[in-house]
Amino acid sequence: MKIIEEAKKIEEEIIRWRRDLHKFPELGLDLPKTAHYVMEALNEMNIPYNNGIAQSGIVALIEGKKNEKGKKKTLGIRADMDGLPIKEKTGLSFSSDNNNMHACGHDGHTAILLGAAKLLKKHEKEFYGNVKLIFQPGEEGPGGAKPMIEEQALENPRVDRMLGLHINTVIDEIPNGGIGIAKGPMMASADWFTLRIQGKGSHGAAPHAGVDPVTITAQVISALQTIVSRETKPMNANVITIGKINGGEAFNAIPDEIVMEGTVRTIEKKDQKFIRTRMEEMIHGICKGMRGDFHLEYTDGYPALVNDYDFTELIHRSAAKIIGDDKIHEIKKPVTMGGEDMAFFLEEVPGTYFFLGARDEGLEEQYPHHNARYIFDEGVLWKGSAIFVQSTLDYLNNPKGY
Ligand SMILES: [Zn+2]
Ligand SMILES: [Zn+2]
Repeated sequence: MKIIEEAKKIEEEIIRWRRDLHKFPELGLDLPKTAHYVMEALNEMNIPYNNGIAQSGIVALIEGKKNEKGKKKTLGIRADMDGLPIKEKTGLSFSSDNNNMHACGHDGHTAILLGAAKLLKKHEKEFYGNVKLIFQPGEEGPGGAKPMIEEQALENPRVDRMLGLHINTVIDEIPNGGIGIAKGPMMASADWFTLRIQGKGSHGAAPHAGVDPVTITAQVISALQTIVSRETKPMNANVITIGKINGGEAFNAIPDEIVMEGTVRTIEKKDQKFIRTRMEEMIHGICKGMRGDFHLEYTDGYPALVNDYDFTELIHRSAAKIIGDDKIHEIKKPVTMGGEDMAFFLEEVPGTYFFLGARDEGLEEQYPHHNARYIFDEGVLWKGSAIFVQSTLDYLNNPKGY
């Protein structure tokens, strides 16, 4: 099959899916209308699926041929489907009418995967093995990948390799219609914490009668930053951010407690563990030294996103057949300390996640992902579908693997 031509031919349909989905973004794991829309499209293509996985997740299966030994490999391709609680201000004719917004491009991801599904179903006699289409809710929170895995999304048949993409408009090196790809670590882990610094309230004029959690907090905040700057390797990217701090009621009273919330971002698992331990030790030392106490609630969020080297080489070659090698930007270092829950799939199964460049160069001003004015160029969507299809054929039809 001529993949480029075939994908280009269904471009209008891919854009129609995207625009339809764009009108009614839903949040978290609860995406009833979106899931219904995807299921209708799958029904039309005669592709069987299971739904209700992690609430609104859908896993569809396209079965190709068996090889001589009767064995089948299975490739999983994932698209996230959820929007954000942002009121859209793009002025697009197909703007959302429900106060939520597809401000991250997940409407595009879902449409791209539907486009790939259509072509793969049509050509199911032309490849060996299976393609599993994983439509995932909750990427923006609380996380849909992990519960989908727990509900066996990667089993029956077992997925051997995973593939996924994210539309990107912010990385300058990724041209419109090109891709950004990393043969290794690409995005950070994203943990979060709530830290309570406990003292003893007293009159502001009589600090000796209480224990001041405000001055303890000041020490703690400065000290925590030295974990990254003095205790982890300068070459490793790590971030500790305290984004929220609350406490006190009156200018002349020392409060009982200060509450802080923050996030820890790391690329290496070793650093993630180390920072967590050192945070606890440091906070303990400072609080005890200053007669206070603390309570730290630390939650492991999305793990770091790490691509498999060999499989990513294959995806690189497949993508080059569609868009040309000059449109492929190889990401040498992790590009963002942002998290992405595709990482859970990639912890379970080797695979590749890449960015699809979709900056709309015609816009007067560019707005980043999660902005109420965020717009991407939907003219690249069919290329995403074509890369998925080409990658599927190259992976499944290679008898030796790759
Ligand atoms: Zn997002
Ligand atoms: Zn996103």
